[in-house]
Amino acid sequence: MRHKITFIPGDGVGPEVARAAQRTLEATGVQFQWDTAIIGSQAQDMFGTPLPGSALESIKRNKIAIKGPVTTPIGTGFRSVNVAVRKKLDLYACLRPYKTYPGVHTPYKNVDIVVVRENTEDLYSGIEFARGDQETAKLLELVVHATGERIKKDSAVSLKVISQAASERITKFAFEYARQNGRKKVTAIHKANILKFSDGLFLDTARKVAKSYPDIEFTDMVLDATCMQLVRRPQQFDILVLPNFYGDIISDLCAGLIGGLGLAPGANIGNDIAVFEPTHGSAPKYAGKNRANPIATMLSGVMMLHHLGEKNSANRLEKAITDVITEGKSVTYDLKFDPNDSNAVGTSQVADAVIEKLRQAEK
Ligand code: NAD
Repeated sequence: MRHKITFIPGDGVGPEVARAAQRTLEATGVQFQWDTAIIGSQAQDMFGTPLPGSALESIKRNKIAIKGPVTTPIGTGFRSVNVAVRKKLDLYACLRPYKTYPGVHTPYKNVDIVVVRENTEDLYSGIEFARGDQETAKLLELVVHATGERIKKDSAVSLKVISQAASERITKFAFEYARQNGRKKVTAIHKANILKFSDGLFLDTARKVAKSYPDIEFTDMVLDATCMQLVRRPQQFDILVLPNFYGDIISDLCAGLIGGLGLAPGANIGNDIAVFEPTHGSAPKYAGKNRANPIATMLSGVMMLHHLGEKNSANRLEKAITDVITEGKSVTYDLKFDPNDSNAVGTSQVADAVIEKLRQAEK
């Protein structure tokens, strides 16, 4: 069967890592029909919008996409296209498995953590009030009126929105994932001691959902304590379920534990659509230099193969990637003990090495 997939190269290092992942996916022998869609600044130049309707239509039609990262201008310019894709397609669950592969230079062994990040609300809801705007003044009035609290007039405000419905579906997703994948424990991460209403609602909802899953252990932990515990003893964690903003930060922390962003895959999953993409961004300083590590995107491809029901090919591809990492020869600078090691190879050479391992395994 030929799988129709929307292929989004992205920008920065995106096109290089996405193409490398695409080549390894093809080398598994699984049949794909790629439908390329452009989003981000290139789409802005071509179509006058960073997120053209045709790209969204392609994802809706195919139900599955693999995507390179896309740059978001800092402070000004268009809002994150990555966040927009997740919101518009209601890809409410961000799934990011982080595990240590043998041969990676990291002080941590046997890390195997799955981050389940809520993907549609929290500080990422994009509801913001700029300093000096009329709407901001009205909001500040409303706050004084409702609470007696006076916010400084020169403030900007971003809303942290947490709903019961979104908290319920993300914690259910985490527990269902635990059941389907033989996982033992779900930990909800929050700051409910301070944010009593927003994070309080998230925690309360998670506790209620947990009652329907007596076979899975449930715990909760305050965000700051979690950071310390992750660095001290990451092996105690299994699945973490978090509101959007904390999920973003903890994802990078977990990537650090397993050897860096170059090894950190991910997926954005909704009821019937899934978009696979690495945790990392577009790393603009390496754009076009054949330097970025494509393994995070390749491992996102492994997740995609599992999603497609191509279990055997997923396992073969992951094994080929693991062999390349363990051997330590055909890896990019970030996986070398010394990042300046002149023996580090480029993005496309990592793909060559993974494809060669797939071929050898076939013999
Ligand atoms: P980044 O993840 O792009 O890069 C941070 C640093 O991590 C890089 O400078 C590099 O040293 C390292 N790194 C990242 N990916 C790597 C790889 N594949 N191989 C080797 N090293 C790698 O984070 P940033 O610099 O904060 O963000 C750059 C842009 O990407 C921003 O515009 C940001 O908004 C965007 N971004 C996009 C996504 C997405 O598309 N989903 C996610 C995060 C950030």
